[in-house]
Amino acid sequence: MRFHADAPAFTDPGLDRADALRRAPDKIAALLARPDARVHPFWRASPYLVRGDAQAVAAAFSGPEAPQPDAFTVFLGLDGDAGVFARSYGGDAPPLGLTAALGAGDFPDLRRAIGAVAPRDAAILGTARSLFAWHHKHPFCANCGGATQSALAGWKRVCGACGAEHFPRVDPVVIMRIEHDERVLLGRQASWPPEMWSCLAGYVEPGETLEDAVRRETFEEAGVEVGAVAYVESQPWPFPSSMMIGMAGQALTHDIRIDPHELEDARWFTRDEARRMMSGGDAVVPRAAAIAYHLLRRWTAT
Ligand SMILES: [Zn+2]
Repeated sequence: MRFHADAPAFTDPGLDRADALRRAPDKIAALLARPDARVHPFWRASPYLVRGDAQAVAAAFSGPEAPQPDAFTVFLGLDGDAGVFARSYGGDAPPLGLTAALGAGDFPDLRRAIGAVAPRDAAILGTARSLFAWHHKHPFCANCGGATQSALAGWKRVCGACGAEHFPRVDPVVIMRIEHDERVLLGRQASWPPEMWSCLAGYVEPGETLEDAVRRETFEEAGVEVGAVAYVESQPWPFPSSMMIGMAGQALTHDIRIDPHELEDARWFTRDEARRMMSGGDAVVPRAAAIAYHLLRRWTAT
């Protein structure tokens, strides 16, 4: 089975997060010791994937068989009664000697492997990837500089010096389908492949509503004023911790004036043009793993 085109990647519900268990280290340890526990090996923030017939398989050790040395474990949730964990191994080279027992595979960049992984696996591995990326960057306290330790089965870090608590970060990004006169506004950055166009996007700033972030970013990047804005759908994007918030906005003006620091070009496209770009051609939009594809899919279906 290839990636399912009805939803963006990483949006499958995945596991029962069973967050109450995170406060019970004895129960977590008991779950991890059971033969039905699954432990997904990671190296740094990359998961171990085994090459299957039609897709990559998110290989996992059973709980008691998962190698321990130089590793850091997080609890991801429950699959039925079974605990699901991820364990990040250190070292300068991928620990392929440890994982060989799971079958021939590798530790690829998850971003490049999304299309080959089943939706549920992608959601589980994406969660772990985001958590590990956060842990690896936060060994020290932002309050006092003291060393921090993992707590809550990997869902918090606590400073050993001042006691400050730190939680995994999620960075909100608005990505918007701006519409006007039966056309949609798409832009492209100079660093992208020359045929690639996509919805405009930008980080939400402190003190700003999602609606105002859509209006500000669209005006900054393309010089287009936006009126009504509505939420459409969202997508966790674990590279490392973005939350893509898909919005639809109605433009009040049509003329485009790009900010060359942000965009190389921006144009209005008709539904027919957008449909052709979704199925590939001289110009394309991001693949079905990306929320931009689905914002356009909903619009071209109307
Ligand atoms: Zn501290």
